Amino acid sequence: MEKIKKSDNEWEKKLTPEQYNILREKGTEAPFSGEYVKTDKKGKYVCAACGNELFSSDKKFYSDCGWPSFYDAKKDSVEFHEDNNHGMKRIEVTCKKCGGHLGHIFDDGPKPTGKRFCINSAAMEFKGKKK
Ligand code: FE
Repeated sequence: MEKIKKSDNEWEKKLTPEQYNILREKGTEAPFSGEYVKTDKKGKYVCAACGNELFSSDKKFYSDCGWPSFYDAKKDSVEFHEDNNHGMKRIEVTCKKCGGHLGHIFDDGPKPTGKRFCINSAAMEFKGKKK
């Protein structure tokens, strides 16, 4: 995969302030505020910064955490990093193509993976399936 590298300035021009805060500064949108928390339409979710395909609606589930949740990501689309900020031990999920911060992954998801990708709505763009 060809990685995308842009300066902070370039990202700032391309993204909305909220997207920039999440994707480039590892911010988090307020729970239940995001556009896709309850979306159950068929389609795919791509990185809002670079368009990299990340998640499918087939693997999305509703969890009470307040962010869109998936039990799996598209193969080789994301990377994982240890995150010990804010007094918590968490695993950060980033876009493999542009390095943008997406959210975190937890071990309390449903079968078959048992994982819960907890992802900021504003870090993604939903592409609905064409009928
Ligand atoms: Fe990306």
